[in-house]
Amino acid sequence: MLELRPNCECCNRDLPLDSPDARICSFECTFCAACVAEKLNGVCPNCGGELVARPIRPAAKLANNPPSARRIWKPEGCGHAG
Ligand SMILES: [Zn+2]
Ligand SMILES: [Zn+2]
Repeated sequence: MLELRPNCECCNRDLPLDSPDARICSFECTFCAACVAEKLNGVCPNCGGELVARPIRPAAKLANNPPSARRIWKPEGCGHAG
C-alpha cells in the first residue's frame, strides 16, 4: 500500500490526498509537480527513478487505509546539483 506522504520532499509544500499535483517514484519519494518539472526533470533525486502522478485513493477506503502523517523534507537534498 502506498504511504501517501503529506508533503513535497523538495519544497515542503502540502500535497493533500486528492492533489493532482503529487508525484511519486517507485519508492514513494513524494514531490510536487512544480519541483518535478522545474528542478528534477521528472527524475527522483533519491533513487534516479521515474516520477509519475500519484494515484488518488478513494475516500471510502481512507478510513481503513489511512495515509502517512510522516513529513519528509530535504531542504538541501533536492535537485541534481553535485
Ligand atoms: Zn515541491
Ligand atoms: Zn525515489
